[in-house]
Amino acid sequence: MKMIRTIDELKRWRESLDGPLGFVPTMGALHEGHFSLVRCSKQENPYTIVSIFVNPTQFDDPEDLRKYPRTFERDKELLEREGVDAVFAPTVEEMYPKGFEDEDAHYDFGYLERILEGAHRPGHFKGVAQVVAKLLRAVEPDVLYLGQKDYQQVLIIKKLIEKLSMPIKVVMCPTVRESDGLAMSSRNVRLSPQQRENALALYRSLIKAKEVYEQGGSVVEAKQEAMKILESAPLIKEIDYFEIVDADTLKPINNWDEADKVIALVAVRMEGVRLIDNMFIK
Ligand code: AMP
Repeated sequence: MKMIRTIDELKRWRESLDGPLGFVPTMGALHEGHFSLVRCSKQENPYTIVSIFVNPTQFDDPEDLRKYPRTFERDKELLEREGVDAVFAPTVEEMYPKGFEDEDAHYDFGYLERILEGAHRPGHFKGVAQVVAKLLRAVEPDVLYLGQKDYQQVLIIKKLIEKLSMPIKVVMCPTVRESDGLAMSSRNVRLSPQQRENALALYRSLIKAKEVYEQGGSVVEAKQEAMKILESAPLIKEIDYFEIVDADTLKPINNWDEADKVIALVAVRMEGVRLIDNMFIK
């Protein structure tokens, strides 16, 4: 497995390849969710590269950035075991030689970046687009693997790729969950045992909304029932949102037949940790 630290080195490695390259961007602290993307890429491409970079410009909360788990040596070992061809782990200076305010900082995604995560994490998607644009130009992958766990991010990155006019296919892989249903996340290690228990309310709220739909209930009922579950978890301090929307546009719907594909998305804050999850309803 090749360890790459600079964009120049990365470009040289890229030029030496003789077949399609799959790319899995991550912020490290790797778990089964990340490895599912790696396995998918390895099945579909002769070469797979993983990036590990905790991107400062996508954190709206400095405390969250400071506390973000960093387990680089362990990550490297696990990726080696997965049979990844290369790891790109640049420094902040390598990615932002001109500082954080650079030409990539200003992509505009309109409505898509103003709602849900965008509304509750100001500047988050600008930061995501900024770093992903740099990574895509450096890696020049054929296929990009992203997790459904961050559904809105997948839509934003698809738009970004259109803007960059790069011939990159995007594959979205399903959310990997713990055996009780909690979506895997690097931030889960920050949960206390009691918070970990309360965090299950996210998954339960999504399952409930789907049940209401399947049993013929309305969108309003589905939201109400889901909110009851979230509100009954005492360690959930704030519910940022629970929304049921058109999966293509993220516009809220009032009736199930307003969209072909419907998704429910949820975000909550616990003491010191923010969690998100989502599920296709229809
Ligand atoms: P992160 O390291 O959190 O930035 O995530 C890197 C990639 O892994 C993103 O495309 C995420 O959507 C994806 N990912 C994170 N958690 C999961 C999960 N539980 N299941 C599937 N993909 C995930």
